[in-house]
Amino acid sequence: MDLFDKCFAFTDAREAQEAGFYPYFIPLSETEATEVTVGDHRLIMIGSNNYLGLTTHPKVRQAAIEATQFYGTSCTGSRLLNGTLELHLELERRLAEFVGTDAALIFPTGYQTNVGTISALVGRGDFIVTDKENHASIVDGCRLAFGEVRRFNHNDMTHLERVLSRLPEDVGKLMIVDGVFSMGGDVAPLPEIVALCQKYGARLMVDDAHAIGVLGGGRGTAAHFDLCEHVDLIMGTFSKSFASLGGFIAGAEDVIHYIQHHARSLIFSASITPASTAAALAALEVMQEEPERIARVNQIGDRMRAGFRQLGFNVGDTKTPIVPIIIGDNTRTFMTWKAFYEAGLYTNPVVSPAVPPELSLLRTSYMATHTDEQLDRVLEICADVGRTIGLIG
Ligand code: PMP
Repeated sequence: MDLFDKCFAFTDAREAQEAGFYPYFIPLSETEATEVTVGDHRLIMIGSNNYLGLTTHPKVRQAAIEATQFYGTSCTGSRLLNGTLELHLELERRLAEFVGTDAALIFPTGYQTNVGTISALVGRGDFIVTDKENHASIVDGCRLAFGEVRRFNHNDMTHLERVLSRLPEDVGKLMIVDGVFSMGGDVAPLPEIVALCQKYGARLMVDDAHAIGVLGGGRGTAAHFDLCEHVDLIMGTFSKSFASLGGFIAGAEDVIHYIQHHARSLIFSASITPASTAAALAALEVMQEEPERIARVNQIGDRMRAGFRQLGFNVGDTKTPIVPIIIGDNTRTFMTWKAFYEAGLYTNPVVSPAVPPELSLLRTSYMATHTDEQLDRVLEICADVGRTIGLIG
């Protein structure tokens, strides 16, 4: 028995590649954000998280260039030791102010933010209560934490209450939800969740990776529901609306201070580069200076949800610029992905085990910078392909 036997036997991805049905790790040769090129094939990008289109914004680009010129290319170390710049602190202050908390702390990625925060806070004897559709980084944070994990059915408040009511009274409890769910585009019912957290004495953490820059005037899900006072921890990532790389957790000063000294994914990993920090800072400024971008991405979301529904597609319960096309069968999802790809659309297939097979879907998502002509073309292609494949009548 050789440890690598499983690697030699793993042929699925290569077989799919040879059959021309492999939708992952596709190298882009060019990108202008809303359109990309693969080899010499040009596609409209409806598979990115660049919600405000800021990766190509002149101010954001320039900030990254200037930070590289001024500080160099890397901090070459952890925030704890040699890797903290005044620029990181400036971004933390501005983020806290933006989302309405006392303090914020930057991590190397959003993934590491969730893993580090959850495992730092939840110790032996504590409990985590988590939505079954929460992001993988939350799932992995739960695995690393020494406390016990209880899962509740997606957005099911009756089930959530049953789970909470069965926990011992006098223990630490951390309730975690995605503000906007990354695959379905649906929103967590925060008013009900806040009420249940208060009733059962749980602290509430919201992963706002897909909400910041989009909901609540860009400030996220808590702001959207006017519940900023009642959310204990807001997590965000720079890899989406912030057009950069990195993540952050925001909350009360003492809690952030504790996480800063206990989160292993922060302490044992290098800090984000000067370019990433400056790009995120510039993106934050643009979000505040150009609120029309936030309005535009939401208006596009409304238009695309309505457009797909009108054509007869099943887009589930989305309320955001993430619009899933639910197909409900892995093979058909790959076939549809391929047909869209050939017709000039870049979408993301999401199949089981990432989602239950009956929910396998093509994830589409939109940017404030998509033009009306591009969006018309998207709906036109989807209508043609949808009819050919028999997804719609
Ligand atoms: N949370 C959610 C809900 C996400 O969708 C993602 C990224 N897909 C992350 C966390 C991780 O963020 P990052 O890409 O910065 O690691």
